[in-house]
Amino acid sequence: TISMLLIDADGNLSGGCTTSGAAWKMHGRVGDSPIIGAGLFLDNDAGAAAATGLGEAVIRTAGSAMVVELMRQGKSPFEACKEITERIYNKHKNHKDMEYLQVGFIALNKNGEHGAYSLRSGFNYAVSDDEKGHRMEDAQFKM
Ligand code: ASP
Repeated sequence: TISMLLIDADGNLSGGCTTSGAAWKMHGRVGDSPIIGAGLFLDNDAGAAAATGLGEAVIRTAGSAMVVELMRQGKSPFEACKEITERIYNKHKNHKDMEYLQVGFIALNKNGEHGAYSLRSGFNYAVSDDEKGHRMEDAQFKM
C-alpha cells in the first residue's frame, strides 16, 4: 500500500491510499485500503492516519480510525501508531501464521506533526514540508 497524508496552510487535512500488489488481489477479496476507517481515516479536528500490511488485521481493529482517535485524546502520531500496531500484534501473536504478519501505520496530526510505527523493520516514509524540504524517515518497529 502507498498512502499519502497532507495538511494545508489552513490546517485542513486530506489523504489517499492505493491498494497493494497482485499478491493481495484474490478474487472477491476487499482489503483495508478501500474501507474508510480501516486503511485510511482522517478527521479535521484530530488528525489523519493510513495503514499498510495485512488488511484483514487492520479492518478487524478499525486501525486508521483508532490511530486518529488516540491522537484526538492527546497521543502523538508516533504513540498512536505504536499503540494500534501493538494492539494488532497482541491479537495475533499466538496465531500460526504470525511469522507472515506485517502491519504499519503513518499518522499526521492537526499541528503537522507526523509519525509512524511498524510491526517489522523496513518501513519508511517520505516527508515534505517548508521547514526541512523533502526527506525519508525510518519508522520505528517492534520486531
Ligand atoms: N493493505 C493491503 C491489503 O491488505 C496490502 C498492502 O499493504 O499492500 O490489501
